[in-house]
Amino acid sequence: MEKEIKTWTFQGRQAGPRLLALGAIHGNEKCGTEAISRLIVELEAGIVTLDAGTLICAPICNPAAYAAHTRFVDENLNRIIRRHAPATGIEQPYANQVTTLIDNCDILLDLHSYSAGIKPFLFLDREDDAHRAYATALDIPYWVTGWNDAYAKAGELNDGDTVSYAHSQDKLAILVECGIHTDPAGGNVGYNSLRAALAHFKMAAASSTVYAQKPLISRLSQIIAKQRNGEFTQPWQHLDNVKKGDVIARYADGEEVLAPHDGVVILPDAKAKTGNEWIYFGRNES
Ligand SMILES: [Zn+2]
Repeated sequence: MEKEIKTWTFQGRQAGPRLLALGAIHGNEKCGTEAISRLIVELEAGIVTLDAGTLICAPICNPAAYAAHTRFVDENLNRIIRRHAPATGIEQPYANQVTTLIDNCDILLDLHSYSAGIKPFLFLDREDDAHRAYATALDIPYWVTGWNDAYAKAGELNDGDTVSYAHSQDKLAILVECGIHTDPAGGNVGYNSLRAALAHFKMAAASSTVYAQKPLISRLSQIIAKQRNGEFTQPWQHLDNVKKGDVIARYADGEEVLAPHDGVVILPDAKAKTGNEWIYFGRNES
């Protein structure tokens, strides 16, 4: 088993920012690995040229989970991104390395995939002009925002992720969900957003078509944690539309979970364990 995260660093001909691309923070999310690996090959072969800045590539951030085709082995790496001393178990040494990588970059692009739904989206966790411009450049059709506000009321459920850590160090950082884990197109989504990021920061030429469509932005409004045994009323997919009062889920004792307003469901997890996030609601912004 790999104890070290392998990295590739490319130096542009001119000065510029340091952009860090992360893949497989969750071991079963291979779109980022594909996207970043393709770019590594193209840079090494001279098909793509880095004009400015420094690109640091870490295509497999959880090598143990990646090899086992699983999300994580001991701990969810995207909840423990901080310095661990001593670092124990499988993931804490990786967390230390990711922390160092983030410390040494200016810009982070973290590529993931998800389990129920096919729509590529990004998390806009900071809404300042620089982050909006970065998000716009990535050409991802769906954005989810309001995450931090919603979680501020929900304790520390969402602490220790790559983007929160990067933001705590005043870096520009965005996480892209390239689609469902099994979608072979996910690698392309990741690759295009990586190339778009390099173009946005004037590090390399733009790659191909940019759709430049207006993104649909859904603002997180409510987090539903699963309180006891229960089931969804249908196999909800990320960004499915709902109307206020729709019955979303039913507990074994009959209590219903209703949509609190017209909007969308976000990241439904039919297999959530009691006490964990089950489903979220969001309001669409125009
Ligand atoms: Zn992930």
